[in-house]
Amino acid sequence: MCRPRCNVRFTDIQHQDRALSILRRALRSGRTHHAYLFEGPEGVGKERAALALAARLLCDDSELAADADACGSCESCRMFAAETHPDFRLIHRGLHKLHPDRTIRSSKGLYLVVDVVRQFLIEPAAMKPSHARRKVFLIRDAERMNEEAQNALLKTLEEPPGDARLVLVTSSAHRLLPTIRSRCQRIPFDLLPAAFVTERLVREHLVPEGDAAVLAGLAGGRLGVALHWHRIDLLGALEQVAALLAGLADPDPEAFGKGLVECATGLAEHAIGRSAVQAEDVDDELNEGGKKGEVGTDALRDALKLVLALVASLLREALLVRVDAPRLANRRLTAAAQRLAAGRGEASLTSGIAAVAQAEWMLDRNVAPALVGERLAVALLGEAGLPA
Ligand SMILES: [Zn+2]
Repeated sequence: MCRPRCNVRFTDIQHQDRALSILRRALRSGRTHHAYLFEGPEGVGKERAALALAARLLCDDSELAADADACGSCESCRMFAAETHPDFRLIHRGLHKLHPDRTIRSSKGLYLVVDVVRQFLIEPAAMKPSHARRKVFLIRDAERMNEEAQNALLKTLEEPPGDARLVLVTSSAHRLLPTIRSRCQRIPFDLLPAAFVTERLVREHLVPEGDAAVLAGLAGGRLGVALHWHRIDLLGALEQVAALLAGLADPDPEAFGKGLVECATGLAEHAIGRSAVQAEDVDDELNEGGKKGEVGTDALRDALKLVLALVASLLREALLVRVDAPRLANRRLTAAAQRLAAGRGEASLTSGIAAVAQAEWMLDRNVAPALVGERLAVALLGEAGLPA
């Protein structure tokens, strides 16, 4: 099977004109920076662009125009696509499992720790490339480097070995030390147009068009996020949430709270199922505090946050329905929003959205998920003016 790395080209990265023009200019001038920071929202093509840059920097074809894509057929390009290029290294949290030290191998790998960064980046960066003219290191989720790791990397960034190129990829640049940020050339990535996200979901991932439009709307211009949500069946969860909200006419806060938690558990289980099939994406956080395949506390909280966002988006949709401007292009969801809109006034919907924000706040302060759901139900019932 063709891995995602195959055929990643600059020409495939769309709606990122700012980023690509900076990179193309650098390639044309023949003076690429030794360290780049690809920053911007999650799921908009940063890592794909970083892979395209890496492939270009490693390509053997000396006849190519400087700012053209990698040739795709030389030995370097073939090794790159096969993920066997000796001068390319993807640095990610799962690497701790390959570390020679047993204690590091058996750690949870929540962060990119200094031992991992030293073993797989700092030390190899100081060595000569073995095939290409240079070595390229791509750091996925660079903000996951803890402070010690970032400080250690600083020295490599200050005195970069001549033939090493580093690409740090992050959607939380503010979590990097200012000294790391200032030593990199920053490449900004933007949100994608919703119509483009919809089209990609339909054409490349065979998502039904109605679903794709809803996912694109919810993900707000982040293709990777929309795709992940499709894979964990977020729309199924959205329908569950709509049914729970509809059930509030027959109030039972406890059942509502339980329903929200069940919905979150379903999402978290889907996410674990997905990470189990994608070896590189194994997210230990999902299993934290539990056996393999069991939903851990942090994973449940994250999933419940997503469920709360769905509650808020349905309440917002109901507000839009009231002014005759529905946004979710899905018949069943629009119908659910219409039911909500019919039962509640504008003020009630608005304060319902505020109640969701309050529930998120409680969740962040470690209030038990079921209780958060129950409190939200009580708040929503109060706002609806329904009998208790
Ligand atoms: Zn090539």
